[in-house]
Amino acid sequence: MVTLQIKNVDFHYNSEKILDDINFEVDCGSLIGVIGPNGSGKTTMLRTISSILTPCVGTVLLDGRDVFEMKKRDLSKKLAVVSQDHQVNFDFSVFEMILMGRSPHLGRFESEDEADLKIVKKSMELTKTSFLANRSITRLSGGERQRVIIARALAQEPQVLLLDEPTANLDLSHQLEIMSLVKGLASQRIVIMAIHDLNLAAKYCDKLILINNGRIIHIGDVEAVLTREKIKDVFNVDVVVEKHPMTGSYHIIPIGDHNGR
Ligand code: ADP
Repeated sequence: MVTLQIKNVDFHYNSEKILDDINFEVDCGSLIGVIGPNGSGKTTMLRTISSILTPCVGTVLLDGRDVFEMKKRDLSKKLAVVSQDHQVNFDFSVFEMILMGRSPHLGRFESEDEADLKIVKKSMELTKTSFLANRSITRLSGGERQRVIIARALAQEPQVLLLDEPTANLDLSHQLEIMSLVKGLASQRIVIMAIHDLNLAAKYCDKLILINNGRIIHIGDVEAVLTREKIKDVFNVDVVVEKHPMTGSYHIIPIGDHNGR
């Protein structure tokens, strides 16, 4: 079973400390949500785990191997990222886009074979994108595009999948669709997602990492992290947290404004 260890990670932009002594360890089987206010360091943390950014102190170990010492191509066979800023400037088809996920597995002049196409097909099935195969990537709805980006990441066959607010800008039905897709993926790989919607986090995530000012405030199950006190401390909003009798999920209902009034 794959393990991911984040050890004593500090990250600075210029002289400003953005991540401060980040430490945690995860294995597969549960969906991990990273929550915290805007600017708290969620994106920076995901970008550091994926080695896009290099910490000034600390390291990230994937199955005991330092990700910063791995070749990018080797890391891409094990770890995939669904970032927020995926711009689509070229008129690729959905199929071509998802096929690109296989590139870390191909040699320099090697083209895809049957096995690669099978993996692409499976990624499309999992994300319900098969019917879009010939559609241009530029002509998709927000929810469809997000599923295609996730399918491309899955085509990398990653053991670790990192997603940065994959439900941003989606309507409620598409948010639920993406969350249940991501939840399903977490049974077989490590999945860590930054998510700003606390109710979605409460409904779908198995474990939450609450961060503020670049520090982990709490890491644990939903009930332990999403308490009235912690939400007030970190988000400066007074809420009630209730377990809904019908859904069994925790619901967070704001009762005061940002000044607590
Ligand atoms: P979040 O994802 O929680 O909204 P970020 O990780 O994007 O937070 O940002 C954390 C902090 O790092 C913020 O204060 C932000 O202004 C700062 N920051 C993000 N990107 C840069 C950058 N490229 N240069 C300098 N500061 C940055």
